[in-house]
Amino acid sequence: MSVVGFDIGNLQSVIAVARNRGIDIIANEVSNRATPTMISFGNKQRYIGESAKNQEMSNFKNTVNAIKRLIGRSFDEPEVKEFESQFIGCKLVDASGEVGVEVNYLGTPTVFSATQLYAMYLGKLRDTTSKELGGSMSDVVISVPGWYTDRQRRAVQQASKIAGLNCLRVLNDNTAAALGYGITKTDLPEDKPRNVVFVDLGHSSFTVSVVAFKKGELKVKSVAYDRTVGGRNFDKALSDHFIQVFDEKYKLDIRSNNKAQVRLRAACEKLKKVLSANSQAPITVENLMNDVDANAMYSRDEFVELIEPLMQKLEKPIQKAIADANVDEIHSIELVGGSIRIPAVKQRLTEFFGRELSYTLNQDEAVARGCALQCAIASPVFRVRDFSVNDITAHPIRFKWEPVSDSDDTSLDVFGHNNAIPSTKMLTFYRKQPFAIEAEYSDPTHLPEGTNPWISRFDINNVEPMANGDLSTIKVKARLDLSGVLTVTSAYTVEEVEVEEPIPQEGEPKEGEEPKQPEIRKVKKLMKKADLPVAQVSQCLDNATLSELTKQEREMHTADELVNATEVAKNALEEYIYDTRSKIESEYSAFIEPQEQKSFLSRLNEAEDWLYDEGEDTTRDAYVEKVSGLKAISDPVVERYREDKERPKAARELRDAI
Ligand code: ATP
Ligand code: MG
Repeated sequence: MSVVGFDIGNLQSVIAVARNRGIDIIANEVSNRATPTMISFGNKQRYIGESAKNQEMSNFKNTVNAIKRLIGRSFDEPEVKEFESQFIGCKLVDASGEVGVEVNYLGTPTVFSATQLYAMYLGKLRDTTSKELGGSMSDVVISVPGWYTDRQRRAVQQASKIAGLNCLRVLNDNTAAALGYGITKTDLPEDKPRNVVFVDLGHSSFTVSVVAFKKGELKVKSVAYDRTVGGRNFDKALSDHFIQVFDEKYKLDIRSNNKAQVRLRAACEKLKKVLSANSQAPITVENLMNDVDANAMYSRDEFVELIEPLMQKLEKPIQKAIADANVDEIHSIELVGGSIRIPAVKQRLTEFFGRELSYTLNQDEAVARGCALQCAIASPVFRVRDFSVNDITAHPIRFKWEPVSDSDDTSLDVFGHNNAIPSTKMLTFYRKQPFAIEAEYSDPTHLPEGTNPWISRFDINNVEPMANGDLSTIKVKARLDLSGVLTVTSAYTVEEVEVEEPIPQEGEPKEGEEPKQPEIRKVKKLMKKADLPVAQVSQCLDNATLSELTKQEREMHTADELVNATEVAKNALEEYIYDTRSKIESEYSAFIEPQEQKSFLSRLNEAEDWLYDEGEDTTRDAYVEKVSGLKAISDPVVERYREDKERPKAARELRDAI
């Protein structure tokens, strides 16, 4: 059984696996320890991860990024429509209630929902992991931002199902980093907790958490975010600047040309990184547009000035997290995320916190490691030090219902701001007939603008009046589970019944005295009478759609594998032709009749011509057949050559042996 953690980043994702030696990061097919979170759709196949990144420039209209920011959201949310769309090259559309993309796939305009896209990407990480582990993987813990709503968390779970994975827990990213920190520390206090601040500045957002550690446990005290500041926002500030500079300098209209904008954005990211190590650097964009090679010099000071408005955004979440945590002492401030590498960011964070920062975590891999550790803790097969992870929810939740009489309450704040997860709450209702509870986020100001605050409806069924016609008493158990997902785990009727119980005796019987027969009293107790079925309606996919999408994903995956296998077979044929042709004219020539050699060479040339003509795009079987046909002729030649080479060796060995 595999023990795996995925840190799904907006730019790149990291895979960690727990093995007996510890946690390892898995490198992908090109040996990178992080894989671009990107999918590109082509005429013959999907490209996912590294291969999508290679397609980004030439196929930007059909290349999807930022799936982390799209999953479980609606197309018409302003943050999606106006903000996210700035960073996405392809067309965003409504896909049955969720935001999706319309791309050209296999030559046909096709719509995929964000959940489907996320599933495709998980499938790629699954394949990379399985390849490394030498067997299939199933259990996984996946990181998500703490601000993800119930709908988004469910969507990640559903995407995992579509990808054939068993997501044991959806884990908040800073909490994952905190787990990695805590589990390795052997000097955590037994009583007074050690408070550590975790700061993550990644590609698309900024998160600050205060976490209290004690031996064997962590407790998240507070979390605060800004979803509008991260590496991509720095890149955008740079590219907006250079659009102006280059438009003026070269008389271009870069905004009218999507391809030019994609090129410029990539050059700006590069420039930003170079400026983390140098005080000035050139920016060069070959063939930006209209055959113009654009270039300019830029300094770190100019960059710092340019991003100042973004830097100011870092202060508020820090203040909020510190204030909400309400702790008297902070032990250290640990940093994660790629954008922490910017010297000006470090400097500003030092100023805002008013103290030195700490870099004990691996800033790119800490979240994935934490996820793998959480998976190990949850897995029955893996032995790992027990560490309890007590997280909190960012969004308070309220339940609402129709009252029975005018004097009844109609709502209750069930889970407050920073409520612990997991957490269970019991509610009591008095009803004669089935009723519905609506769950919603009670403070939409915490949610991204335009997010539907409605979470779920729970229908409590089979409710009947009591035998005497009175209202039945109903208990409803609401739970925020480990993944921060809301469910009603059970509902049942209770009834007051009279039970007999012994009256507790005061004092011990004196020595030599017979214990008295306890007296019995009658008391009224609430006893569970009958379970009530609960039906939940949420904004997620129903089971039928989920299985249909799972089937579709499997089919697309099989089709991609066939395309890849075809490509491998085609390359094998090409390689065979070139390799055999050169050898048949040199080392093999003594082992083939001249006549046969001539005709074989012309067959090889014919095969080469075929490859660039009708064989350019055909089936895997056709390539395999072609190679077999040619090998039927060349194999005996190769065999004769090999025997001849080995004969002197065998003779030598025989001579030596005598
Ligand atoms: P998120 O956590 O926001 O979903 P992510 O996990 O994909 O995104 P990270 O991998 O933490 O993001 O960070 C990627 C960002 O870090 C990119 O914007 C990248 O340009 C930036 N970055 C990486 N190296 C440097 C560097 N040397 N200087 C400046 N920025 C850098
Ligand atoms: Mg990240």
